[in-house]
Amino acid sequence: MLKGRSALVTGSTSGIGLGIARALAREGCDIMLNGFGEAGEIEKVRASLGSEFGVKALYNGADVSNANACAGLVTETEARFGGLDVLVNNAGIQHVAAVENFPVDRWDAILAVNLSSAFHTIRTAIPGMKKRGWGRVINIASTHGLVASVNKSAYVAAKHGLVGLTKVVALETARTGVTCNAICPGWVLTSLVKKQIESRARNGGIPLEQAEKELLEEKQPSGRFTTVEEIGGLAVFLTSAAAVNLTGATLPVDGGWLAQ
Ligand code: NAD
Repeated sequence: MLKGRSALVTGSTSGIGLGIARALAREGCDIMLNGFGEAGEIEKVRASLGSEFGVKALYNGADVSNANACAGLVTETEARFGGLDVLVNNAGIQHVAAVENFPVDRWDAILAVNLSSAFHTIRTAIPGMKKRGWGRVINIASTHGLVASVNKSAYVAAKHGLVGLTKVVALETARTGVTCNAICPGWVLTSLVKKQIESRARNGGIPLEQAEKELLEEKQPSGRFTTVEEIGGLAVFLTSAAAVNLTGATLPVDGGWLAQ
């Protein structure tokens, strides 16, 4: 379905970003990977996308907390693939603390990675998408882009901001062949959430399995984690012909979290 198209997925060396990169590659899309990790592991991921799905897969390790690096990441993708069709803003980090104790450097880092990076990649990618009359911008927000939880001031502020940015970009591109949507996952079992389960187990003096169960029961009525493959499937849908008039939307994949 995406043969001849190219995608940049920020933060795609693990978790949801990697799940989305694999789902797009399965449809024939060339992929620019981005994110941190051990060089050998990243090379294995890059090579396997090429061999499994027969697409071109490249890697750029830009730190998306830096504005110039974000712009450079987009321009390199455009140069290597002859354009950028699908931009997935997925890179994200978390820190959990009460607002009065929230470290200022963590606030700045979360705003830079989870929100400002999307502004910088979008502002750089939109001119090319408009010129070619086709583009898909997919922002990975969160249920925390729509509701709050305690001790997540920076994350919730950044994700609400990302939802706002999504809507503005959707309006500005509404007649150009470009769509811009936000996917809002609930709990997905990735390294970002495993750290939260570990600290919950540590603080409560409870086994990891119990901490995992409590975390799900507190927010996610389905009682199961969403998988990265399920998020990847939704990203593919957003690039499909059926989604051509779907723009400015926030799409929860949260087992009923937001229905409560
Ligand atoms: P993850 O930790 O597995 O992945 C995060 C990715 O971002 C990694 O590839 C990491 O290397 C990359 N990254 C971090 N800082 C970066 C930087 N400065 N520059 C470039 N890359 C950077 O976590 P995940 O759960 O897969 O998170 C992916 C996105 O999904 C995040 O935006 C997160 O907020 C969002 N999300 C996750 C969940 C969940 O339950 N896991 C729920 C809602 C939203």
